[in-house]
Amino acid sequence: MIYQVNHHINGLVINDSPKKLDITNPATGNVIGQVAMADNSVLEKAVASAKAAFPAWSATPPAKRVRILFELRALLEKNINELADLVTKEHGKTLTDARGSIQRGIDVVEFACGIPFLLKGTYAEDVATDIDSYTLRQPLGVCLGITPFNFPAMIPLWMFPMAIACGNTFILKPSERDPSCSFRIAELCVEAGLPKGVLNVVNGDKDAVNFLIKHPDVKAISFVGSTPIAEMIYQTGTAAGKRVQAFGGAKNHCVIMPDANIDQAADALVGAAYGSAGERCMAISVAVAVGDKLADELIKKLIPRVQGLNIGAGFKPETEMGPLISKQHLERVKNYVDLGVEEGAALVVDGRSFISPEHPQGFYLGGCLFDHVTPTMKIYKEEIFGPVLVVVRVPDFESALQLVNDHEFGNGTAIFTHDGGVARTFASKVQAGMIGINVPIPVPVAYQTFGGWKRSLFGGMHMHSTDGMQFYTKIKTVTERWPKDKKSNADFAMPTLK
Ligand code: NAD
Repeated sequence: MIYQVNHHINGLVINDSPKKLDITNPATGNVIGQVAMADNSVLEKAVASAKAAFPAWSATPPAKRVRILFELRALLEKNINELADLVTKEHGKTLTDARGSIQRGIDVVEFACGIPFLLKGTYAEDVATDIDSYTLRQPLGVCLGITPFNFPAMIPLWMFPMAIACGNTFILKPSERDPSCSFRIAELCVEAGLPKGVLNVVNGDKDAVNFLIKHPDVKAISFVGSTPIAEMIYQTGTAAGKRVQAFGGAKNHCVIMPDANIDQAADALVGAAYGSAGERCMAISVAVAVGDKLADELIKKLIPRVQGLNIGAGFKPETEMGPLISKQHLERVKNYVDLGVEEGAALVVDGRSFISPEHPQGFYLGGCLFDHVTPTMKIYKEEIFGPVLVVVRVPDFESALQLVNDHEFGNGTAIFTHDGGVARTFASKVQAGMIGINVPIPVPVAYQTFGGWKRSLFGGMHMHSTDGMQFYTKIKTVTERWPKDKKSNADFAMPTLK
């Protein structure tokens, strides 16, 4: 039976949107549900609900706010298997991968439970004679989160727990392709005791986004998705006077030095390039092989691993790689593989003809591996977001570093080496936000910050940790004096230390 995903506004399920979009199970190609597309009246309701909830929620002591987050954390852990099922059903990634990503989201809720400590201001006694000064951190108001399809639980959990812990209210607009997790999390928030209107989930596509990012009552926007949309949201949102952090696409390079353990590097590359069918913003999509000898050996090790990938539905325990999100995206990725061949790269593993025997209508692509890719090729320059790894050969470490730094994206990058000096230089000089040293997917933990450089992030603030707290609060500095006598005089000079 086809299910319906509605909006969750002011603690209630809102199901009066006539326009709907199909939700497809990418593993089978079957339509399994429909998601309501909010029109402007529904979006207005969500903003009004978040605005009305703000005064009481922002006045609730932080320690009381986080009691609800402690409860939410427990409920998320209790329901992790149900949430993982929803992720696998609508996104296609394997259940273990889905569970891991939800756990990463729960880690942020856990971090947000400590917000009372972070919201404490600083106090300076005697900044001048009988004058003290202190700071306050206060919430912004209604915050908006717009999330991509590839982490339907984790990325919403990067955003709203930090925002509401800081005293804001929140509107979440999840990806229309896999919206069920966000709706279920909103239900769990109600069960945890979150007051009505503090978290509102509205479903929709670009029309909903375009309405919300210009709404005068929205004070801040967190966006994660592709670079063109991230850039548009940053420009539109900041032009409308809002605080914006907009996370974009990636092309993450992994440099393999000749002294690296080649088996470890090959295993790491296969997991990082083909896990989640390459649909991770931290996936490795470029292997930079230093020296031809190493490159030849690496290709030899990679070919059987890529050919041997166990591809199938994410629910099957033996599956290593599931389908792509949609038929359209599958075609797009296949077109990139065709293009790579036309551009003259060597396609050493061709997964284009893979068809799942169990689910021939599913959106599967076999792993693809290109050798002899050059920096001018489109398959090198553009984000493919699929199970396609390109190998670029360079003569030395300096050329590898230059290659990474010249790319327009700078989300994550990694190096495999046993030379501590080389690794240190790489970490210091490379132009990217998240660096792995013998770690292929260096996704920072919740108490570190997550974020890229260059065209992978528009706006200054990273996600979660102290950056998350700073993004969702404004700082206020109070200078105070309590005069002992009644004497007064006007002073026209700039106040200085007295
Ligand atoms: P997307 O940009 O298509 O969609 C993201 C969100 O924007 C969705 O909620 C969607 O409804 C909305 N949207 C789509 N088109 C829009 C438009 N024209 N105007 C306004 N809103 C629009 O991204 P996606 O395909 O869902 O996700 C994949 C992308 O996200 C990849 O590029 C990936 O690298 C990126 N991503 C980045 C990070 C990061 O941390 N930098 C993390 C995850 C994913």
